[in-house]
Amino acid sequence: MLTNYIYKLRPNQTQCLKMANWVDMLRSQYNWCLGDRITQYNQQFIQGNYSDIRTKSEACPLTSFVSKNGATGNPWKDSKFDKEGKVKNPRRSAGDIQITALPELKIARPWYGGIDLTVLQQNVKRLDIAYKNFFEGRGFPKFKSRSNFTSFTFVMGVKLQGSKIYLPKVGWMRFYNSRSIPNGFTLKACTVRKRQNGWYVSIRIEDKSIPDYIPKPLDDVAKIIGCDLGITKLVHLSDGYQIDNPRFSTTKKAKRTLRIRQRRVSRKIKGSKNRKKVAIRVGRFHQNIRDKRQSYQWKVANKIVSRNADVIALEDLNISGMMRRCKVKTDKGRFLKNGQSRKKGLNRAISDAAWGDLVLKIEYLAAKQGKIVIKINPKHSSQECRNCGHTDKSNRYGEKFICVECGYHEHADIGAAKTIRDRALSIVRGDSAKLGVQHLNAQKISPRSKSKRGEFGNPSNRDIKEAIS
Ligand SMILES: [Zn+2]
Repeated sequence: MLTNYIYKLRPNQTQCLKMANWVDMLRSQYNWCLGDRITQYNQQFIQGNYSDIRTKSEACPLTSFVSKNGATGNPWKDSKFDKEGKVKNPRRSAGDIQITALPELKIARPWYGGIDLTVLQQNVKRLDIAYKNFFEGRGFPKFKSRSNFTSFTFVMGVKLQGSKIYLPKVGWMRFYNSRSIPNGFTLKACTVRKRQNGWYVSIRIEDKSIPDYIPKPLDDVAKIIGCDLGITKLVHLSDGYQIDNPRFSTTKKAKRTLRIRQRRVSRKIKGSKNRKKVAIRVGRFHQNIRDKRQSYQWKVANKIVSRNADVIALEDLNISGMMRRCKVKTDKGRFLKNGQSRKKGLNRAISDAAWGDLVLKIEYLAAKQGKIVIKINPKHSSQECRNCGHTDKSNRYGEKFICVECGYHEHADIGAAKTIRDRALSIVRGDSAKLGVQHLNAQKISPRSKSKRGEFGNPSNRDIKEAIS
């Protein structure tokens, strides 16, 4: 079983500087690797599959700098044969080639020698993951700026001793031992991350003696609970239970504080020390809100998962689609009002509610307890009458639901949650072909972990995503 523990580090001043330096260097390496892959890819169209754009000479496939998958360097792996005598993965991936080029990087830029080798390798692999996500339909990898590149990962050489940790080439440092690691676990990886108020470490540990969890088959499902996510209330459950939305960053008070602090930044001279000082306060405020939201969401997810049901039915929301800006309206070159200023408030409320993060946490906790999460298409779930099936926009008046056809009435959001539950029920009890598909999905969601609730640390979103996939 894999799990993650997060601690705050207590580095000394030289270690702080060193790690900040590493992050900067690794970011430039990451960006260089990304840029290199893009140029190598584009070269194929200019010069054909096997040629070198730098020397503009023809090259043979064995020594070529460019290969068909956009890789650089020697396109062939050292021959490894499988049982049938065939060559395993004969072509190197772009990541392999960029990793084998690391010694050259150290010769050309000696200061990279100060960084631990596994950290450099993991940095290239990080780009591989970004490309993998892209091929699975998510966005193209981005060049990283200082604000969105703040971490690096060790996979070897990390030692733990009481409340001290040893990071290769950085040295021993203390950390706030807020939660002790249970016995029997081995260290798998260790990610160091810079946040607004200091450095944190996320330690991934594995215990092979604890078996991975196998989810319950859908056939023995007895009870289903439906959830409707919203803004006025964060969650409505189909059994009538409601969970508040504290609106951490969109309350009047939070908005005011943020406005004042942001204004202080913009009134200082650019590049001055005072501007930096107040900018840090803005960052701290954002982090504070984020921490509060995370902790609240774990509590909410726990409440939902621990309710009496085997299956949790959630909406399959397209959040980025909901947060899209309004279309621009023009008339003879002039811009007309398109309602964006009003939409802006709603978009902020949606991102404040952070439904996606909440769903991830529910999936994680559900898998731990052997429960299944099913995602349901929420189309018209709050407009459809549960009595006669009539679907109309005018069925809904704010929080009230009154059917224009038959007069059936109830709380709109609880009704929607019930509709979601019923749709999940029809999938569970539906035709066998559909069942097979859903069952596969349900198994795919479950992470390889089993434990008592609350026994293990709360992993970050990135860790949850890795555990679930
Ligand atoms: Zn009706």
